[in-house]
Amino acid sequence: MLINTPDGIGQLAWEKMDGLLPAIVQDAFDGRVLMQGYMNREALAHSLESGQVTFWSRSRQKLWTKGETSGNTLQLQAVHADCDGDCLLVLAIPDGPTCHRNTDTCFDEEAAVTPALAFLASLERLVTEREANRPEGSYTTTLFEAGTKRIAQKVGEEGVETALAAVAGDREELINESADLLYHLLVLLKSQNTRLEEVISVLKSRHGG
Ligand SMILES: [Zn+2]
Repeated sequence: MLINTPDGIGQLAWEKMDGLLPAIVQDAFDGRVLMQGYMNREALAHSLESGQVTFWSRSRQKLWTKGETSGNTLQLQAVHADCDGDCLLVLAIPDGPTCHRNTDTCFDEEAAVTPALAFLASLERLVTEREANRPEGSYTTTLFEAGTKRIAQKVGEEGVETALAAVAGDREELINESADLLYHLLVLLKSQNTRLEEVISVLKSRHGG
């Protein structure tokens, strides 16, 4: 249930936990769970009005807008309540690391807790970092130094190799070539200052998302 009006706020099961609801914050782009906090009515209303995720701090007994001291805010995208209205799922775009440990999420950043598809987003972040810092000895740096023409050529080659592997019925080769293709495509998109999110938006709009 999407919560986006005062009416919606009023329908939640506030009485169950003395006016508080647990709020799970999920990265709106890659689906990673970033953190969990508590909201009261005021915190939820403030989050919806300001577009900045705001909690009720139980230790300080006051509203706490995430990032008010660290600057690492969470830009609110949407709030959903669960089936019986006693838990909130908050979709947000983080601006900087969410956790005080300077990590993206309060949960361990191990492969086990990262949804498989979210790895594509972390690969994109790595490519972005390589483009900015150009570390020596990195293949990605070599590609950026060689320029768009070279990167585009690699995308073409990997595309053909992927197609040929499928035609040959070589499943293992198909998987390997597809991995190469996706990686080089991310590099090509970055070289044109284009984000994977923009590509996914087109896919979503074509398929009713
Ligand atoms: Zn944390």
